[in-house]
Parts: sequence; C-alpha cells; structure tokens
Amino acid sequence: MVFESLSDKLQSTLQKLTGKGRLSEKDIDAAMREVKLALLEADVNFKVVKDFVKTVKERALGKEVLESLTPGQQVIKIVNEELTRLMGTSEVKIDFSKKPTVIMMCGLQGAGKTTTSGKLANKLKKDGKRPLLVACDIYRPAAIKQLQVVGKSVDTPVFTMGDKISPVDISKAALEHAKKNGNDVVIIDTAGRLHIDEKLMKELQDIHEALEPSEVLLVLDAMTGQDAVNVADKFDDMLKLTGVVLTKLDGDARGGAALSIRSVTDVPIKFIASGEKMDNIEVFHPDRMASRILGMGDVLSLIEKAQLAVDDKKAKELEEKLRKSTFTFEDFLDQMQQMKNMGPLEDIIGMIPGMNSKALKGINLPDNEFAKVEAMILSMTKKERQKPEIIDSSRRKRIAKGSGTSPADVNKLIKQFKDMRKMMKQFGNMSKSMGKRKFKL
Ligand code: GDP
Repeated sequence: MVFESLSDKLQSTLQKLTGKGRLSEKDIDAAMREVKLALLEADVNFKVVKDFVKTVKERALGKEVLESLTPGQQVIKIVNEELTRLMGTSEVKIDFSKKPTVIMMCGLQGAGKTTTSGKLANKLKKDGKRPLLVACDIYRPAAIKQLQVVGKSVDTPVFTMGDKISPVDISKAALEHAKKNGNDVVIIDTAGRLHIDEKLMKELQDIHEALEPSEVLLVLDAMTGQDAVNVADKFDDMLKLTGVVLTKLDGDARGGAALSIRSVTDVPIKFIASGEKMDNIEVFHPDRMASRILGMGDVLSLIEKAQLAVDDKKAKELEEKLRKSTFTFEDFLDQMQQMKNMGPLEDIIGMIPGMNSKALKGINLPDNEFAKVEAMILSMTKKERQKPEIIDSSRRKRIAKGSGTSPADVNKLIKQFKDMRKMMKQFGNMSKSMGKRKFKL
C-alpha cells in the first residue's frame, strides 16, 4: 500500500506528542527530525522536505499550538494541512468547457498511458460522456491493437488509421470524426519512448499545435519516484502540462513522487491509479490523501467507492456507522460481503479512520481467511453479533465448533473487532476536537 512506511512513521512520531499537556521547542525539534527522516525515506524531494519541515516547525512553535490544551493534536492538524498543501490543496478538475474536449495523454513507455486512456474513457462514460479513444502510437508494435482491446473492454470506440499516417494527421481526422459522431471527449493515446527524446517531443508539440487540447495529461509511473518528478519537469517545460496521472501506486510503498510533483513542477496530480483493472482510477484529492497518510481515514472516498459498488441506501448506512462508531459484527459481515465488490481490501481498509497499515496487518484477510471470518460470524447468534462482550468461553467454544475453527480463532476475531471499534472511536473523538469538517467522523 502506498505511503505504508511513511504513514507508520509519521503516526508513531506524532502520537508521541499527543500524550503531552505542553510541548517544548525540544519536543517539536525532535519530532520534526523524525518527520524529516520519514519523508526522506519516502523518497520525497530533498528541498520539498526541507521547506515542509521548516513551515511545520514555524507553525508548531506559534501561539495556536503552545497555548492550546491539546498541543499534540494541533501539531497533527498542522502536519495534515501542510501535507495537503504539498499535494496541491484541492482537487483540480478536468476542463470540459471546449466541445469536443481533447485530452492528450503522454508519457514514457510503460508508464501506463494506454491502460490509463482506457480507464479514463471508462470513468468519463460513467459520468455520462461519450469518449472516443485515438490510437496515435504508430511506432510501438501492437500499441494500436492494445488500445483496441482496452477500448472494447470499456465499450468505447477506438479511432485508428493504422501506422502509416502521421500522428498529427490521425489526431486531426479523429477530431473531425468525433464532431460527426457526437463524441464529446477525444482521448489521444500518443507514442512513448524509453527516454525523453527530441523527436518525440517535436511530435507531441505538433499534435498540441494542431489540436489545441484542453488537457495535456502526463502519465507517470509512481514506482519510479524522483525520476517521475524529473520527467514531469521536462515534459512540462516543453509541452505545458495541465495535469499528471500517477499510476502503479499499488506497487509504490514510498509515495515520494505523489508528495513532490506538485511542489517541484506546480503541475497538479489529477488522477491516481493503483491497479490494472479498468475501474482502477480515482480523482486525486490532496486533502483526502493527507488524511489517509495520517491514519485519519478517507471516509469520503470510501463512501464514493461504496456508492459505485452498492446502492445509495447501503452507502448512507455505512457512512452513518463509521461516523457513530456503532459497528456490530453484523455490519462487519455485511461490509465484508460488499467490500468484495469494492476492490482490493487493502485499499478499502486504508480509507477507514484509524485503520492504518499496522491495523491492516492484524486484520489480514486473504480469501480463505475471509471465508473463515464469515463462518465464525454466521455461527454467532444475533445477540452475540451485536454485543460481542457477551461471548464467554462456552459461547466461544460453540462458535468455534459451528464454524469449524478454534476458540483461539474466535478470540482473535473478537479482539480485532474490538480494537477496530476502539480505534474508530478514538479517531472520531480526536476529529471532533479538531473541529474540522473532514475530521468529523
Ligand atoms: P504505456 O506504454 O505507457 O502505454 O503503458 P501500458 O498502458 O501498456 O502499461 C504498462 C504496464 O503497466 C501494463 O502491464 C499495465 O497493465 C500496467 N499498469 C498500468 N497502470 C497500472 C497500475 O495502476 N497498477 C499496476 N499494477 N499496473 C499498471
């Protein structure tokens, strides 16, 4: 999971501060040293780290913290705000004002351009648009075919003219085709190279000049860390990017690119992807990501995912329960069944307040574990599911027998469940004291 180690380190560093009634400059210095190390280890750009720590420290030594009754929590609030700012403050939307809207996708080979073009088409279709995908990578063998396969899988037309016509002419013809056929978004999958080269840039500039796209999105592989930041910088110089799509966050445990790109290049991250499936693309919300990093969860994204996977009513119920921390085993079971529709469990748990990667380790649920947990909950009576406190040793034995597990398994599940509820409550309380909407859970 992205930011796993950073998230762990920041949380444990900041937690040390929350227990204290007063904070001295020394306490803050020590914490900032750890924050700095954690960010550097996460492969965040050195200058970005320096500025970040300086700003947080200055603010942490200010009156708002020193005079507060909960100085540690004030520091967490500051770190959260500064992390959010680092990543760009708020979501930057796609500009659809021009019709058809031309979105030019560019990037190095293997970054995920073709896949992301398909994902974007898929997402826009769900938002009611009628996209057209355009195959302009005429050099890489099979690139056209790949886009056709992707297009088919998301039920989106793909415009191609083979590999003998120049990408500029293909894209011009595609735009005419879109106008005639009522496609309101044109997504151009351009050619990539292993490295930035002049010929590639010239070609991209020519397409840019001919089509005047509303959006020039650079697709970047998050796993390449600071290299991705350098690539963004160079592309932006030559092409004036309107946004970045960060892919492969599922393989990037550090997260340095996500945290550095905006500060270094001033180009906003517009989407993130963390998986190969066509529905695996999300609008990037800096504030939600910062909350996720600090283990405060991302209830809003969770709700949006739930809305896609389940019906509205269920999503509202989930929101309410997370808010009130009145989760029972029945909800747990219900959620588990719905979570199966919502994508990888890792992603989901990371969005639940208080559920950081450490919590995840305790609640590691591969598929067979899933079945085991399901069996245990199904073997509980209704009352036991609602009030796990009443499960004594004889009930435990009965549940174990009924589910083909051991009393120790049942015990472990109950403990994990209680821990989870407790954590949700803690973060709920902490959020309230911070008095910000995004923390009110
Ligand atoms: P292109 O050369 O830039 O067009 O890259 P492709 O779209 O062909 O993608 C290269 C590889 O990365 C493919 O195997 C994709 O399935 C994979 N890929 C793309 N996006 C993601 C992602 O978010 N996560 C993971 N794990 N793989 C991805």
